[in-house]
Amino acid sequence: MPNSEIESRPDEYKVARILLSEKELGDRVNQLGAELAERYRGKQPILVTLLKGGFIFLADLSRAMKIPHEIEFMIVRSYEKDSSSGTVQIIQDLKQNIEGRHVVLVEDIVDTGLTLSYIREHLSIRNPASLTVCSLLDKTEARKIQVPIEMVGFSIPNEFVVGYGLDYDQLYRNLPYLAIIDPEQA
Ligand code: 5GP
Ligand code: MG
Repeated sequence: MPNSEIESRPDEYKVARILLSEKELGDRVNQLGAELAERYRGKQPILVTLLKGGFIFLADLSRAMKIPHEIEFMIVRSYEKDSSSGTVQIIQDLKQNIEGRHVVLVEDIVDTGLTLSYIREHLSIRNPASLTVCSLLDKTEARKIQVPIEMVGFSIPNEFVVGYGLDYDQLYRNLPYLAIIDPEQA
């Protein structure tokens, strides 16, 4: 890579507004973890997370859920927002059989609902004992397809958010809070 390109990489993030602070996120994630622990005590559930967006939420939720549980990852790619087909490409599927198991699908955000709707179906047909969706964020106004979400951290307005695992062009994931980026950056 030429030097000029390296030098053009940003050395700081430009955040327009903080939507949810580190403390607000942490408190809610701890509550969700405690709720899940109560619901699944003695059942050894499998937490399934969609990469990459869910990685920070999963890490905190898992540690807040103080009962034995397993972790699995899937890698999915959602097609363009304006497609209403709901086609989602599975880049990496689950590595283990979930038949008869209690599955918690841990999502970062539900926007149009197309991804969740597809993945819910994809998991359901494998006959888990139960399937619960736990999404940190819910943009209800943006929904194109109705899909059940059993547990939601926060309902947020229909704005593009970054931080706490969520990216803009692969950056911003490491912000410890949830933010709206400066439009001049986007
Ligand atoms: P869907 O529109 O299918 O419900 O959401 C698809 C994916 O789009 C989400 O899992 C998430 O990765 C991404 N997405 C939706 N809304 C936002 C947003 O506000 N910020 C970021 N960074 N990603 C989003
Ligand atoms: Mg996601």
